[in-house]
Amino acid sequence: MEKIISLCKRRGFIYQGSEIYGGLAGTWDYGPLGVALKNNIQNLWWKRFVLDREDMYGMDAAILMNQNVWKASGHVAGFADPLVECPKCHMRFRADHIEDVDGVKHCPTDKTILGAPRMFNMMLKTNVGALEDDSSISYLRPETAQGMFVNFKNVLDSFHPKLPFGMAQIGKAFRNEIAPRDFIFRVRELEQMEIEYFVKPENWDGSFEEFRKEMWNYTKDVGLPQEMVHELEVADGDRAHYSKRTIDFEFDFPFGKSELYGLAYRTDFDLKSHTTGSTVDLSYFDEESKTRFLPHCIEPSFGVGRTMLAVLSSAYTEDELGGETRAYLKLSPKVAPVLVAVFPLLKNKPELVGKAREVYTNLKKELGRVVFDDNGNIGKRYRRQDEIGTPFCVTIDFDTLGEKPELLDTVTVRDRDTGEQKRLSLKELTSYLRDALI
Ligand code: ATP
Repeated sequence: MEKIISLCKRRGFIYQGSEIYGGLAGTWDYGPLGVALKNNIQNLWWKRFVLDREDMYGMDAAILMNQNVWKASGHVAGFADPLVECPKCHMRFRADHIEDVDGVKHCPTDKTILGAPRMFNMMLKTNVGALEDDSSISYLRPETAQGMFVNFKNVLDSFHPKLPFGMAQIGKAFRNEIAPRDFIFRVRELEQMEIEYFVKPENWDGSFEEFRKEMWNYTKDVGLPQEMVHELEVADGDRAHYSKRTIDFEFDFPFGKSELYGLAYRTDFDLKSHTTGSTVDLSYFDEESKTRFLPHCIEPSFGVGRTMLAVLSSAYTEDELGGETRAYLKLSPKVAPVLVAVFPLLKNKPELVGKAREVYTNLKKELGRVVFDDNGNIGKRYRRQDEIGTPFCVTIDFDTLGEKPELLDTVTVRDRDTGEQKRLSLKELTSYLRDALI
């Protein structure tokens, strides 16, 4: 983990939130390469689950919602984790994250025996407007899901979809985690990609299976090694109260196997709660059977940060190349922030720089994620691109300009994973790279 965190900072993926003020626990800032990786991860999700389907409606609901939403959803009363405080050092921990030894829990820091846990609500509370009384209370949403349930009727009225259909959303959520930890694994400001998929009650299991497969497919889209992803059937007593079936997708993170995604069958719990809470009828009329009922819901839920950590930690590789050890990110081209880096062999030769700029401009038009780099020597540039996971580097040298006439208009293309270089003509360069990358 230390190596990944340090690479992320050094190369501009992820910085500690508010770092120059000493940080703010559980917050992280995404730098230029982090944003690029995150956008690729989110775009692949949006493509698979929204753009490529006919039955999905994209949403972007407000983060602040009427407090009654959270009363009806059960979050005000029950979105809580068990908190224990050490009587000696006053550190606070999540009780369910500390193992019992002979029926008691000990402080992980100083081994003092911990007392009984109390429930701590994880929603971040705020006041909306100038009045700070109970009526102005709102919360930074702890999940994106409720923004979809409260818009269920709007989507029905605007689009008249037939069951089964879903709503999908990518957005920020906030949880006042007792103990944020493990870099971007457990944070207080997070991003989720969630689907609420509405079905006829009797058809829930078919859709559950469909999304189970699609979740596996998405882990392939972002390039996660399949043997590092595991399913956990969550047992009766461990499921959220609204769920009749839950599968956690777990991943082998550097600190151990932990939850990556969740897939839950939420029955009609949410639509029922919001019908009662809002007194607005959220039922659906089925033309075929001429009946009116509350659809049931399947919820695949994905964390953006956890996807990113899984991608980064499984891609991080150390090997030996040309007698030197190196670290590189073996990222799939589908998520790599940069696909191709173009270098002039030397910085101070205008004819090399001019030609390299021309190659760069052409490739950028074709492939988008292309950068130009003339900083430091070639070895350093390769190392930098390896570390950010760039699959190919293209170098323009004197032979490109015709020093050896038979090599005129050829360039070297270096492969990140093998370090091997090949000489290609400029004519075939774009199609070679396109085939290898897309
Ligand atoms: P955990 O048991 O790890 O606290 P959870 O079961 O509460 O997670 P859900 O409420 O199911 O998580 O949220 C859906 C997804 O959102 C999770 O699978 C995870 O990818 C992501 N997620 C939840 N909490 C956090 C967090 N604090 N930091 C980063 N991602 C999170």
